Amino acid sequence: MTLLKGKPASEELLLQLKRRTRSLAEVRGDPPHLAVIAVGGDPSSQIYLRRKLQACKDAGIECTLESLPENITEAETLRIVKNLGDDPAVDGIILELPLPPHLSENALTDALAPEKDVEGVTRINLGRLYCEKKLESIEESDALIPCTAHAIIRLLRETGVSVPGKHAVVVGRSNIVGKPAAHLLSCLDATVTLCHSKSSDLDTIISGADIVVAAAGRPGLIRGNWIKRGSVVIDAGITSDGRKIQGDVEFESARRRAAFITPVPGGVGPLTVTYLLYNTVLSAERRTKKTLEG
Ligand code: NDP
Repeated sequence: MTLLKGKPASEELLLQLKRRTRSLAEVRGDPPHLAVIAVGGDPSSQIYLRRKLQACKDAGIECTLESLPENITEAETLRIVKNLGDDPAVDGIILELPLPPHLSENALTDALAPEKDVEGVTRINLGRLYCEKKLESIEESDALIPCTAHAIIRLLRETGVSVPGKHAVVVGRSNIVGKPAAHLLSCLDATVTLCHSKSSDLDTIISGADIVVAAAGRPGLIRGNWIKRGSVVIDAGITSDGRKIQGDVEFESARRRAAFITPVPGGVGPLTVTYLLYNTVLSAERRTKKTLEG
């Protein structure tokens, strides 16, 4: 069994991004610029927010934080989101979730400029993504791949396992993780089964899987003895009880059967933030190219 840790791939990608950031700064005078909108002070998102700000700094990406008060109106928040979309100095925008209950997540997400949507959450961006059938054509399109799904695929590629024709099972169908991961696996020519909370016979489905992607947020949902011998297991699930972080897969028993398995924490997580930086640099490159081409 090989442990698929996120850190080595993350460090390698970060080196590339630093180079691309430097050459962008030479061409246009400024490094890529990410704007983060945070409404109120939700404690669960504060840890990730600090991690993102530090990661930007490490990569030489400029990052500005728009800290908005908890009681801000939707109209005012919409105005700020749209202004950042129109601002030529901004390459990427993140709207931190969760939002206070009086703000509509759909209305605000839909107001994000799709070409600056570095988390890949807008309907326009997702539509662009699902119209492509190959990973290479996504890179060449206007789409930005949601970061966790991209991290999952990168870890799969790190294994060197040939994917075409393999049976991949994704557990979880959110717009941000499960669905895009399933689409990317299909772009790699895997045969994909997408499971969710109403799926029956999860054990049977998983026991036939060459590749398992867990993204349900249910600790221990996937039993070790369901795992097919020699398979690849990528666990994106993160659940914290305040003391320890757990994935969706029973790690100790699954590791005895899998050929490759991600640890939790230390697997998908470290790469997810790096793919956020990746999308910011990509967005900056695409925007600069468009400006230079006039
Ligand atoms: P959501 O809650 O949006 O989606 C969870 C999905 O899991 C849903 O599709 C749900 O089904 C499905 N599900 C829930 N229970 C079961 C079950 N018993 N059997 C099968 N499927 C089930 O979560 P996210 O997609 O946002 O996140 C998923 C996990 O990934 C979480 O643990 C989250 O913390 C983690 N995460 C990790 C990141 C990282 O960097 N590693 C980044 C982002 C998220 P249904 O649609 O029917 O409700």
